Amino acid sequence: MILHRRRTRGQSSCGPLPVLTGRDAHSYSPNVSSPEPSRPSIGTATPAMRQYLEAKRQHRDAIVFFRMGDFYEMFFEDALVAARALDLTLTSRSKDADGSAIPMCGIPYHAAESYLVRLVKKGFRVAICEQVEDPRKAKGLVRREVVRVVSPGTFTESGYLEARDQVFLAALAPSGSPELSSPAGAAHAALPPEPVVGVALLDLSTGEFQTAEYTGRDGLQALADELNVLRPREVLVPIDHRSDDLIPPELRSAATVTPVETWYFELERARRLLVSQFRVQSLEGFGLEPHGAATRAAGALVQYLRDTQKADLAHIRDVTFRSQADRLVVDPLTIKHVELVESIQGGRAGSLLAELDRTMTPMGARLQRSWLLRPLVSLEHIRDRLDAVEEFAFRTTDRGRLRETLKAIPDMERLVARTALGTAGPRDLVALRSSLAAVPRVRQLLQPFQAPLIASLVAELDDVVEVRSEIERLIIEEPPVVAREGGFIRDGVDPEVDELRHISRSAKQVIADMEERERTRTGISSLKVRYNRVFGYYIEVSKSNLRAVPSDYHRKQTIAGGERFTTPALKEYEEKVLGADERILEREVEIFEALRRAVAADAPRLQDTARALASLDVLAGLAETATLQNYVKPHVHDGDDISVADGRHPVVERNSPDPFVPNDVQLDGASRQLLLLTGPNMGGKSTYLRQVALICIMAQSGSFVPARDAKIGIVDRVFARVGASDNISRGQSTFMVEMQETAHILHAATSRSLVILDEIGRGTSTFDGLSLAWAVAEHLANNRKARPRTLFATHYHELTELADTVPGVVNAHVAAREWRDDIVFLRKVVPGRADRSYGIQVARLAGLPPGVIARARGILEALEQDALARGGRPSITRNADDLRRQLGLFESAPADDGVVRRLREIDINSLTPLEALTLLADLKREVED
Ligand code: ATP
Repeated sequence: MILHRRRTRGQSSCGPLPVLTGRDAHSYSPNVSSPEPSRPSIGTATPAMRQYLEAKRQHRDAIVFFRMGDFYEMFFEDALVAARALDLTLTSRSKDADGSAIPMCGIPYHAAESYLVRLVKKGFRVAICEQVEDPRKAKGLVRREVVRVVSPGTFTESGYLEARDQVFLAALAPSGSPELSSPAGAAHAALPPEPVVGVALLDLSTGEFQTAEYTGRDGLQALADELNVLRPREVLVPIDHRSDDLIPPELRSAATVTPVETWYFELERARRLLVSQFRVQSLEGFGLEPHGAATRAAGALVQYLRDTQKADLAHIRDVTFRSQADRLVVDPLTIKHVELVESIQGGRAGSLLAELDRTMTPMGARLQRSWLLRPLVSLEHIRDRLDAVEEFAFRTTDRGRLRETLKAIPDMERLVARTALGTAGPRDLVALRSSLAAVPRVRQLLQPFQAPLIASLVAELDDVVEVRSEIERLIIEEPPVVAREGGFIRDGVDPEVDELRHISRSAKQVIADMEERERTRTGISSLKVRYNRVFGYYIEVSKSNLRAVPSDYHRKQTIAGGERFTTPALKEYEEKVLGADERILEREVEIFEALRRAVAADAPRLQDTARALASLDVLAGLAETATLQNYVKPHVHDGDDISVADGRHPVVERNSPDPFVPNDVQLDGASRQLLLLTGPNMGGKSTYLRQVALICIMAQSGSFVPARDAKIGIVDRVFARVGASDNISRGQSTFMVEMQETAHILHAATSRSLVILDEIGRGTSTFDGLSLAWAVAEHLANNRKARPRTLFATHYHELTELADTVPGVVNAHVAAREWRDDIVFLRKVVPGRADRSYGIQVARLAGLPPGVIARARGILEALEQDALARGGRPSITRNADDLRRQLGLFESAPADDGVVRRLREIDINSLTPLEALTLLADLKREVED
């Protein structure tokens, strides 16, 4: 049997059943899962094994960690799979009732976290089955229960999470079965309904919860984009729905897809569940009421968490409904091409995010990333952020102090979540306390600030004094990470702990005191209080004094010289001492858990504070970057004009060995709608295109921009596409992919969009490519429905003719100068067209063999002489057959041209005899070839 297999439709299930894909698929290949080891039926199994089998029955889709003493044990297929995945030694449990050996492996319980991290990273789910009663107090078999199921989307241990990344669990609710849809849908029964998909996304480690709906074909594309940008680690889908059409292929190989029962997605159920989770009367306040699909997705997600986390989830108290119109949409390919959060090589370094992010806290870093991925479109909100950054930029000293204070604040958002999930330890609570302790200082520092956004964030800050002082009152300064280590509750907090500690620390003294008291009370001066392992504590009285023994002494043992007694007080003390350490620990854990519950009850207030701190951190960080890098505040407006004076590429300007040459850009929806950019290879065209896109994204996310002056007419979408060879193949030809993407832009761009096309059409034959590039540029400029502001870089110089005929198209080129036989890049974007690409010079710089360069020159010269038309530019009007014929001629042309050219270039005076000889051999070889 394979451990995790896809359930066939209609089969009943006890709970969610994942189909593990992608990263973990290898774990499920037939050669990994061994033949099913024999397994006893429940009837013949030992009692413990019966318990295990019951847990396994309820969690067939997970590896069950079965707690036995100090170990988590795994049996049967779980043992086989886990042993392989974790490199554990496989052993076998002594033969069971029916005589068969059971494969097993185990891990020490205190090291469980690291094993869990490894399993979950490989895409497995793990059901943790704990002993839920004290084995010493249990009558018969210890009770065990699955207390938590962890999976890629629900695991929140720090070893699994990157501090700067969000970790999403997603649920997708496609419209489908009528009983799942909103009754309102019935009214439109006559019309074929457009498919709607509701999506819910939750970062369990912080409580950030959002939903959205996507309608129709375009909606599905937008959903795919959203999922590709946010990359959830686990996606819940209804068990009876084919997920292939919902989940983009890129994600399918990276995330775990978990089919869950259809009833999870029922609308009414979802509503009731969310109302109870958020503790509200209705969902109206969240804008969810009219959005059945989004509600169903959110409901399924919460139900799944309740089933698997078995915690209160107090940090999930609200949800945001997002509509696409709320933000500037930057699709995944654009994110990649402009290197927004990762460089083309992969990794954060070299991206805009790495350049911009100067946050001091992990929650600030996560927020900065999400601000960049989801810039705003609301003018008011953008200006609020920019005003706040401006004030932070001006107030250098206060900004410095704030950032110093923030530096000391740990990841409060995740600490609160861990508290609510019941996984926080004593050290986490102390960290939370110290975060709260910083709040009054932050508030005081920001008192003089005027920017409305800063003021409203300050108003959100709450140092939740009760929580803070309670943690401080109960827990010592430097407690252990986990509660079971004990010793972290302060003295004086709990009389029982104090007494027990007293007993434990001063057992000797107590015994001596008692001995003294008993001697005085009985008048027996030789009376002794002693302890031995067999009889425990006793009072020993010699034979001669037995008469003086009081009536409350009970005889325990007779020895040669006398008798040994106990008393109720001594018995009580004995129990206390012997159980003291265990009881101290038990009591400390009790106090701790009560405290953790009390803190969790305040999770929403704590979360609001954490989020406000994160926003302040990002704003102050942006101001820091703006000051250090000499950025300016952009003027964002709702017109269509984008004009940037002396703009720079924020990353290239920092990494380039040469001084960066700033450039202007001027685009609008009318006379300068499409800028055709030509110029030499390596001239700086791509850099220029990307810098315009980045400046718009930065401005709308609230950042200052690298320019002398910038006016940005709000952009609703940015599309950046780079011609063929820069794309990774997705199972189709790169040219096909390029054309699909171009098609998508032509369909989706609006007059508010910004389109960046870098050498589109490059991946096919010259004539096809040129024709396509021409038609695409023309369409973007002529289309009445949508005339997006466009930057179009090309080496097809014929396209520059468009500026003569199509209104709104203007030419610009990146200047370069020829010097002797070399090219000097000026990097300056100037009006007008370029007539050459200087490709051969660049190829020479790149080190192509001189013979190849000379040959290329010869071909170019002939091409230019024979096949050129007006103004020295290759003409689109020229007869294609002519060109083909000429090209054919070139193919059979002798190599002499190149040889002659090289001979001409030789400076005889500077050649050594050896060089002359080598050159001669070279030329001869070339002629012979
Ligand atoms: P190709 O047509 O060959 O793709 P390109 O014109 O798109 O080339 P870029 O890739 O943008 O050229 O730039 C080439 C290099 O020039 C960049 O790596 C960068 O280091 C440098 N560069 C680009 N723009 C500037 C600038 N404005 N100032 C200084 N250096 C620049």
